[in-house]
Amino acid sequence: MSRPPHHRDGGFQNNHGDFEPKSLADVLRWRWTASRLGLPKRPSAPIPTQPADLAFIRSNRAPAVTWIGHATVLAQLGGLNLLTDPIFSERASPFSFAGPKREQPPGVALAELPHIDAVLVSHNHYDHLDLASCRTLAAQASGSPLFVVPLGLKSWFEARGIARVVELDWWQSQTLAGVEIALVPAQHWSARGLNDRMKTLWGGFAVFAPDCQLFFAGDTGYSRDFADIRERFADRQTDGGFDIALIPIGAYEPRWFMQSQHINVEEALKIHADLGAKASLGVHWGTFELTDEALDEPPRQLARQRAEIGLAEEAFFTLAIGETRCLPPRNSS
Ligand code: ZN
Ligand code: ZN
Repeated sequence: MSRPPHHRDGGFQNNHGDFEPKSLADVLRWRWTASRLGLPKRPSAPIPTQPADLAFIRSNRAPAVTWIGHATVLAQLGGLNLLTDPIFSERASPFSFAGPKREQPPGVALAELPHIDAVLVSHNHYDHLDLASCRTLAAQASGSPLFVVPLGLKSWFEARGIARVVELDWWQSQTLAGVEIALVPAQHWSARGLNDRMKTLWGGFAVFAPDCQLFFAGDTGYSRDFADIRERFADRQTDGGFDIALIPIGAYEPRWFMQSQHINVEEALKIHADLGAKASLGVHWGTFELTDEALDEPPRQLARQRAEIGLAEEAFFTLAIGETRCLPPRNSS
């Protein structure tokens, strides 16, 4: 059997383009330039936050998404509670005393979450795979959620005492209570240390429930992958594309360093169009200062560029941290 093109000896690679993770020299050049220029600038306005509607969340009545912060979203669909890339810790870092610090508390505290049925982990970077959060979720009183992870990460979880894990290759899926969860390609990479670059897979997720179809991009650069994803699922989306796409809009400056691994707002809008999504929610901003743009810049960019292309606000929106958006149920007339 021939191996898939994104598999290589001892690891994985992207589908499109010549991707190499940035060198240490490039990292140093970026960091040095940023500090010389005084970047990132402090936000000019507070990041919007609001108290979560816990009564609504716990009732799980209709398809809905709640932004908890960064790429962490509580997605309620098909009667299930799904959590994407849960990070509730103070830092996105291997250390509790150093590394990017959380700028605002999670929109829903870990202890306030309803029973989580499944956790979708896009890749192993520290701002997406947070050990303390995963451990707490695995120990929830009602039993561990199912952790759905890319190839190569199951053993990482098991070594840390988290046993209810399924790992997927791109285009493979797992069905949970009638909801299908598929791992899909993204243009990114993986690493938690210095010697494990691209050894475990990364990706996004497509989730198919009777009342809602959701897409979660994880972290990604712009590529043909999103047109491929639309094509691949066309036969199950004859009544329209994803009802909601969770697309990163932050962590994009400087472009010479970030472009191959993180989209900017313009590219996020292209992905929204490539997918044919009915609506998109901008995530991966406002929570950790990871890159050179100000923490509050992504939604301003989004508003400006939406206006330029004449896209309605509700077609690609942002939420306050803690805010819930209900989605019209699919297939309802
Ligand atoms: Zn990443
Ligand atoms: Zn990230």
